[in-house]
Amino acid sequence: MDNNIDNKLINKKESGWNSVSDEEKVNIFKFSKGYMDFINKSKTERLFVNNAKLLLEENGFKDINFVESLNKSDKVYYINRDKSIFIAVIGNKPSSEGFNLIGAHIDSPRLDLKPNPLYEDSGFAYFKTHYYGGIKKYQWTTIPLSIHGVIVKPNGEKINVEIGENDDEPVFTITDLLPHLANEQMSKKANNIIEGEDLNLLIGSIPYNDDEQNQVKLNILNILNKKYGIKEIDFTSSELEIVPAFKARSLGFDESLVAAYGQDDKVCAYTALKAILETQNPDKTCICILADKEEIGSMGNTGMASHTFEYFVSELLNKTGENKPNMIDKVFNNSKMLSSDVDAGFDPIYKSAYDIHNTSFLGGGVTLNKYTGSRGKSGASDANAEYVGYIRNILESNNIKYQVCELGKIDLGGGGTIAYLLADKGIDIIDAGISVLSMHAPYEVTSKFDIYSAYKFYKEFYKY
Ligand code: MN
Ligand code: MN
Repeated sequence: MDNNIDNKLINKKESGWNSVSDEEKVNIFKFSKGYMDFINKSKTERLFVNNAKLLLEENGFKDINFVESLNKSDKVYYINRDKSIFIAVIGNKPSSEGFNLIGAHIDSPRLDLKPNPLYEDSGFAYFKTHYYGGIKKYQWTTIPLSIHGVIVKPNGEKINVEIGENDDEPVFTITDLLPHLANEQMSKKANNIIEGEDLNLLIGSIPYNDDEQNQVKLNILNILNKKYGIKEIDFTSSELEIVPAFKARSLGFDESLVAAYGQDDKVCAYTALKAILETQNPDKTCICILADKEEIGSMGNTGMASHTFEYFVSELLNKTGENKPNMIDKVFNNSKMLSSDVDAGFDPIYKSAYDIHNTSFLGGGVTLNKYTGSRGKSGASDANAEYVGYIRNILESNNIKYQVCELGKIDLGGGGTIAYLLADKGIDIIDAGISVLSMHAPYEVTSKFDIYSAYKFYKEFYKY
């Protein structure tokens, strides 16, 4: 009898923390500290792009628009309208052999200001909002909120707005009805407890002049005019995003977890960015995509469905001198990719939502989703077995813990990522990311072990 047979044959799902050395633990915690510092200043796609650009410049990456020609091991990036970014390190092999790509998204669920946001009611001034992405609306009331974004004037002048993050700045909030008077509200379905039209941000209460109508609104406009030089109509050409003012923090007595806003998908975006920053002289050309608009379907010219990505790849091929008719299709058909997005981690409080045999666990390592979609794989790009085998080889030969999983129970819902859009181009792709609790809530939870595992995996993936 083989006493060790269970270890050999059974795919045991153990916590990754079981096999972490003291030294490794120091690295894991240090890496997560860097991650938390970065996302604290990168809560929107524009901020993420800006801070990524600074890191890229520090690490010798150049704006491809200012590069005449590209050679092996050159490093470039392309920023698309300040909201998405493509990053490349040129490989030793010809592009026709394919690229190694990793793609994450840097937009997160939030509240956007409506084009005509400002109004006054009963002595309060408010901003009207339109939520962005799939949220539980009731989660966004009674928490501190900050505002980030730009206001663009007809003459092209762009005004940056950042308010609510620093301790000496005011915050904003959306009020909710007191429980004492909420009998009617509490009997509504959760979807209607807070209506979309009631997600109105409280922004002030002092009147400008008590003889006038709209006094509080006028006082706010006067403050905004002094601070930013704007008038009311300037909101119509703005993108102002409202996000939780919470800071990313270590969670738990053991500090094993990260609690933060926007970890979907900035946790995968940060780990992918760190991986490409540390990639030197790769065999194949390595690309990191940080996309916008994933949370609303990847449409628009900064979303993954846009042809701007093809334009970037064509520019790479032009500048390495390899371009010719249909070359881009050959490159895509020979390329391999990780769609690095978060996965729904098993939450023991809501056990019934998950198939325990096919769920991911926080601390269980990198999550691989062969397919996403909903109700019978609809809308999924289903990675073929050969490619999953290829991915497993990278993970197993580098001793990186992973788990292969689905989002949750089949008939309960579902979701998608950018994977199918790249699969459409002929690229081999699989979702490979990090498990998260409370996904799309103002405060999401991840495991530091998983964050570090994903970073290690992304770095190795670029080497193959
Ligand atoms: Mn996501
Ligand atoms: Mn999402």
